Amino acid sequence: MPFPPGNACQFRNLAVPITLGATTQPMPTSIAFPIEGGCDCRAVRYRVTSAPLFVHCCHCRWCQRESGSAFALNAMIESDRVVNLGAEPELVHTPSDSGRGQKIARCPTCKVAVWSHYAGSGPITKFVRVGTLDNPGALPPDVHIFAASKQPWVMLPPNSPVFEEYYERDALWPPESLARREALLPLIEAYLASQHTDA
Ligand SMILES: [Zn+2]
Ligand SMILES: [Zn+2]
Repeated sequence: MPFPPGNACQFRNLAVPITLGATTQPMPTSIAFPIEGGCDCRAVRYRVTSAPLFVHCCHCRWCQRESGSAFALNAMIESDRVVNLGAEPELVHTPSDSGRGQKIARCPTCKVAVWSHYAGSGPITKFVRVGTLDNPGALPPDVHIFAASKQPWVMLPPNSPVFEEYYERDALWPPESLARREALLPLIEAYLASQHTDA
């Protein structure tokens, strides 16, 4: 059963010329939450109940390999603000630059990746893959990171914060997000302590 035209690359009508620089899609100003997303086969469906803490566009080589594309777009959020509406994703341990790995949550059937847990905060936070949202344009990046390995043809918006590698959280995150992260710290510390005990 094919996807409706417009939803899949193979249905794009290559005869229609695209006018460069004439994009008509405005950047979102305010998004109403919740928003939903899921995998290709629709076994995994999830609901994001609030704005994320921060949205990373990561141009590192690891993200390029894992996505097969030019970058990864990750919306970082408290795990309990992502409600599971369908099948439980399977967690696939995947190597990472830190050496501590990440767990990528994938649909058990079609294997599309819907979010990741990184070693620094474990199951406490989810890095939701923005491209799996029903409306992926809802969460544009707040920062571009690891731009040193950006693919050369990728042009970044002139007003976006761009960092060769990583950035200082306190300098960039809005106060509400910093306060939300502060509230998570005891959970993150307990998680990290439990990891040390197990090691
Ligand atoms: Zn699926
Ligand atoms: Zn990356």
